[in-house]
Amino acid sequence: MFVDKARIFIKGGKGGDGAVSFRREKYIPAGGPDGGDGGRGGCVIFIVDEGLRTLMDFRYQKRYIAENGESGKAKKQFGKDAKDLIIKVPPGTIVRDEETGKIIADLVENGQKAVVAKGGKGGKGNVHFTTSTRQAPNFAESGNVPEERWIILELKLLADVGLVGFPNVGKSTILATVTSAKPKIANYHFTTITPNLGVVSINQNSFVLADIPGLIEGAHEGVGLGLEFLRHVERTKLLIHVVDISGVEGRDPYDDFCKINEELNQYTKRLSQKHQVIAANKIDILSDESIYNHFKEKMEKEGHQVFPISAATGKGLKELMSYVANKLDEIEEIPFIEEDELYKEYKLTEEDKKDIIVRKESDYYILEGRRIEKLFYSTNFEDMDSLRYFQNFLMKNGVIDQLKELGIEDGETVKIFDFEFEFYD
Ligand code: GDP
Ligand code: MG
Repeated sequence: MFVDKARIFIKGGKGGDGAVSFRREKYIPAGGPDGGDGGRGGCVIFIVDEGLRTLMDFRYQKRYIAENGESGKAKKQFGKDAKDLIIKVPPGTIVRDEETGKIIADLVENGQKAVVAKGGKGGKGNVHFTTSTRQAPNFAESGNVPEERWIILELKLLADVGLVGFPNVGKSTILATVTSAKPKIANYHFTTITPNLGVVSINQNSFVLADIPGLIEGAHEGVGLGLEFLRHVERTKLLIHVVDISGVEGRDPYDDFCKINEELNQYTKRLSQKHQVIAANKIDILSDESIYNHFKEKMEKEGHQVFPISAATGKGLKELMSYVANKLDEIEEIPFIEEDELYKEYKLTEEDKKDIIVRKESDYYILEGRRIEKLFYSTNFEDMDSLRYFQNFLMKNGVIDQLKELGIEDGETVKIFDFEFEFYD
């Protein structure tokens, strides 16, 4: 999981001092004490604002100090309490004390509040300190010292926007250009394996952009994408569909667009239903103006907004990102989906199940077919979540039952492509 982190200093306001003062009235040479109490110092309070998505603001401002309480005054007047310092944080922010490492607050729900540094109490005025032997106390209490500490804010980043598209169209380059993420960029296919995340900061707004590598891409690397990937995919509100418009690789951008959408549709339906903005990349090396014009016309007919960009030169990226940031505000919050729900999505129809082949050959039980291939390559076998997902999939779609029908026993071998697994019920 990718985590956004910030380290900041917070301090409550000092309590106001109590006052030392004596009544002065006509004809009374030395009146009694009348110094009032100091006011309370302000607290530093965090409040969850669901409009925020990252901890970006804390990169720029690192010190947060609430106001001091007002000192007490003569005539038993209290000093005013200081206002609290209210700081907005995105949902999902975890607040940790740097020194102890202890979690001070776990801020989840919109509007949830937590006092992270208390202000000092006000000091008592001298009016409180008379005794039978001390009629004129010439001292008062100082305001109390406020809490102060360095804290660490942590936020698990979930992508708001996904970059999809064929290998080599420039997804990683876009991510590297508009965020501080450092994805691998190479001019050969299949470069990105895990979703790379970065924070895009634009027009005082920020959002999380993820490079969502195609399944084919991950598959050729032989590295599973796992559940973490699914979660990101699930969470995105919007997709930037990147196509290579240059024509340099000899592919038709419209064809590519359709193929990727087919893949998304197979991956999960929810993904294919997300709003898509089209980025026609590599406009700097466009070989033929008509390719772009033709493509744009076709896309617009289908109701998609097209942005000509060059990730290499940066051209058009600002317009694209501004559009995306605005669009994000229009799209409703995506409800969080439990893992089990994610698995459910993978329950296949009867038709799809025909793509799963379970058979026995001499001493081996063999699983094959397109569905199995896809599942296999999207599993990261070193990751528990991913493995659990893999097993759930086999169970929910009747594969385990079929193996049993074929008479499999504990300790026998199941083969998926060139890999062998030992079966345990
Ligand atoms: P990905 O597989 O979609 O992540 O693609 P990459 O970002 O790795 O880019 C693939 C290749 O295209 C790299 O050699 C990039 O330098 C190149 N590339 C990406 N964007 C542009 C662009 O706007 N113009 C040009 N000329 N080349 C680009
Ligand atoms: Mg890439």
